[in-house]
Amino acid sequence: MAQRFALIIAPVDAADPRDDFSETFSVIDPEAPALSVGELSTQRGDGVFETIGVIDAHPQEVVPHLERLANSARLCDLPLPNREQWRQAIAMAAAQCPPGEATIKLILSRGVEHGPTPTAWVTTGPASDFSAVRAAGVRVVTLDRGYSLDVAERAPWLLLGAKTLSYAVNMAALREARRRAADDAIFLSSDGFVLEAPTASLILRYGDRFVTPAPSGGILHGTTQLSAFEFLTERGVETGYERIPASALGEADAAWLVSSVRLAVAVTAIDGHPLPVDAALTAELNGYLLSPRD
Ligand code: PLP
Repeated sequence: MAQRFALIIAPVDAADPRDDFSETFSVIDPEAPALSVGELSTQRGDGVFETIGVIDAHPQEVVPHLERLANSARLCDLPLPNREQWRQAIAMAAAQCPPGEATIKLILSRGVEHGPTPTAWVTTGPASDFSAVRAAGVRVVTLDRGYSLDVAERAPWLLLGAKTLSYAVNMAALREARRRAADDAIFLSSDGFVLEAPTASLILRYGDRFVTPAPSGGILHGTTQLSAFEFLTERGVETGYERIPASALGEADAAWLVSSVRLAVAVTAIDGHPLPVDAALTAELNGYLLSPRD
């Protein structure tokens, strides 16, 4: 999908106390070539990113996205982003977004091979129309991710808790789900615990209690899941982070995949077994997720 606006950021030290970072931004033609062929983001997927949902030119959940960008940078030994600089870049990009739903991408790459600094840029683009899938839900299959639940502590170099640019595995999982006549996937650890979807977090309902797999380092902590738990807590509903065995998936009273742009979609079946769908709650949750939030 065509990008509508693009901004290159000259990264500064995380502690740079300036109030105004506009002189570190260069607006570029979003259709024109902009990256060096020596970019390590394109050669090795060596960098981190965030995708922010934008509603009527309001960027959603900016603080949690910036926190996760900083955490990803830390896990990848990249220089920490200056939050105020990135916040101003996001504000500039959001001001260019049309009414309705759009997206902003933040990218922090290791930079050009042998180069002195990271490369950073922000783009905006249109959001796909997800209204049909928000109403209809998705069929999912479970896929083995091949790592045990505690792998993040044993092998932090796998960067499983970082949102790195290396999403080829996640995209391959979605293609495998489609080959198995499903719309999406839920990753399981090799020792049989529920993790996340390739581009979304999972929330399960058991009676009146809503749970999500604990983001122990092996999965991303979803900004949309955090907002969904806020929505549920405001309604007096109990929420929690748990170790969820794969055997408990089929016992759920309802389930959702949640992410920044598609928002909440009900899971209608897991590995071919139908799951009850709470259409009213899904619509209410999406109404909340579509309202302006910081
Ligand atoms: N887990 C993975 C692997 C993701 O790629 C994403 C989003 O892209 C999420 C979870 C959900 O994160 P968020 O709600 O912040 O979009």
